[in-house]
Amino acid sequence: MDSCSKLCAPDSSSSPFDCIIFDLDDTLYPTTNGISEALKKNIQVFLMEKCGFPQSKASSLRSELFRTYGSTLAGLRALGYDITAEEYHSFVHGRLPYQSIKRDIELHRLLLSIKQRKIIFTNSDRIHAMKVLNRLGISDCFQQIICFETMNPNLCNATRPDEFPVLLKPSPEAMKIALRAAQVDPRRSLFLDDNASNIAAGKAMGLHTVLVGKRGKSKEADYAVENVNQVAELIPEIWGCQPDGQDQRTVPTTKSEFDSRIPTTTTAAVGA
Ligand SMILES: [Mg+2]
Repeated sequence: MDSCSKLCAPDSSSSPFDCIIFDLDDTLYPTTNGISEALKKNIQVFLMEKCGFPQSKASSLRSELFRTYGSTLAGLRALGYDITAEEYHSFVHGRLPYQSIKRDIELHRLLLSIKQRKIIFTNSDRIHAMKVLNRLGISDCFQQIICFETMNPNLCNATRPDEFPVLLKPSPEAMKIALRAAQVDPRRSLFLDDNASNIAAGKAMGLHTVLVGKRGKSKEADYAVENVNQVAELIPEIWGCQPDGQDQRTVPTTKSEFDSRIPTTTTAAVGA
């Protein structure tokens, strides 16, 4: 169903958004397919098998490292564990049940109906991102993938584990790297993510925000959708369907213009 065409005649030129930035995991597919749970389990096995932590500690340690450092890998490296990103990702992603991610024809149609630039912005590595996009059948819908490697280009050159901190959403530094890589004006970009802390970080950067997978909005979310496929119904502005404001687009064209639109403050992301 093309629900946008039911609402109005799409005209992205009158949309307030020049770019739509999508998180990947648990945003473009539902958490119910078991990937998220399998990932948690794999991380716990990694902590036991590669780092020697007892089974009784693995679950709480994973949660603690995520809360404190943004990811288990970030936490382990900050604590001095000499674990490479490749080693970590191949272990925790390599054994995921990707077959449980099903082709989403409705999502493919929805994405193709969005004429603006579409970007993936994920904390996951590129291999995982491509596998998920291919399973969903939407890998042809995006112009750019901003992923772990984008935010951490120097990690492989580190001479000790804590030389470069692992940067991931929702850290302001990671958000700035992503916005520079995307070269978008945050004030004319829409950012969808299932994580309220990431949404808060995006809002602090000036992005318009959509919390995905939740019934209610978080404080920093401009919109909330339970399922990404609901955006056509709930955010018709993407297609220029509610041109009730004056279109004051001032799209930056140089790197310095892009940089000038990214806040320089280091406002901490607010967790949910
Ligand atoms: Mg996510």
